[in-house]
Amino acid sequence: MIYLKTDDEVELLREANLLVARTLAEMAKIIKPGVTTRQLDTIAEQFIRDHGAIPTFKGFPNPYGQPFPASICTSVNEQVVHGVPDDKPLKEGDIVSIDCGTKLNGFCGDSCYTFEVGEVDTQVHKLLVTTKEALYMGIEQAVVGHRLGDVSYAVQQHCTKNGYGVVREFVGHGIGKDMHEEPQVPNYGKRGNGLLLKSGLCIAIEPMITMGDHKIYLDEDKWTVHTRDHKPAAHFEHTVCVRKGKADILSSFEFIEQVLREKSI
Ligand code: MG
Ligand code: MG
Repeated sequence: MIYLKTDDEVELLREANLLVARTLAEMAKIIKPGVTTRQLDTIAEQFIRDHGAIPTFKGFPNPYGQPFPASICTSVNEQVVHGVPDDKPLKEGDIVSIDCGTKLNGFCGDSCYTFEVGEVDTQVHKLLVTTKEALYMGIEQAVVGHRLGDVSYAVQQHCTKNGYGVVREFVGHGIGKDMHEEPQVPNYGKRGNGLLLKSGLCIAIEPMITMGDHKIYLDEDKWTVHTRDHKPAAHFEHTVCVRKGKADILSSFEFIEQVLREKSI
């Protein structure tokens, strides 16, 4: 069932998503070599709860019925998605995708950003830039009258054109009172195909892009997804509302990127 949101519901979704954005900006402040992903998780959970929200990822079950043990997913280097925070310190040159979800006043926020730890290899930097560009190209297509396949195609084209792999097994999704609603939003598809987009449809668009082959495998922990060839992967995600002419981006990278600019001075 596809559920279009009222304007009031869209504003509630925006509040939940802006809290995710501010949580990710807190991560941006403290990411550096030596920090562990468990430290990041502790700070994220506290920040989310201090703002009256629930970290939606905590306790979320996988298909094996195991609850996710943390409040954020931290996927390092060749980890694609659903990385579990641990005590291993991040090191210079790593990348870490931090996926964060909140529930605030009954509505969900969901957004992800791949961070650089210190100085990263220029090739890896280009993967991150391209993945983020692909996300915005997908968002450009998320307008009334287009079809879901237009969004998927735009993401896929930009990444494959640059020689990258597009992960198939994990996709974006509708979002509202539930973190995962219909429809599924793949990062690959055909132009002009699929669901006709209507005003008020809220979706999370989230390219998961690999530097090499798109094939993945599931870790023994039954959560962490790795690239099979162990090459790095990037993941950027926005929650957006389909509107006429231009999608309304409900999450934001502005707080994160302001912190990153200040750190680089
Ligand atoms: Mg997410
Ligand atoms: Mg998502």
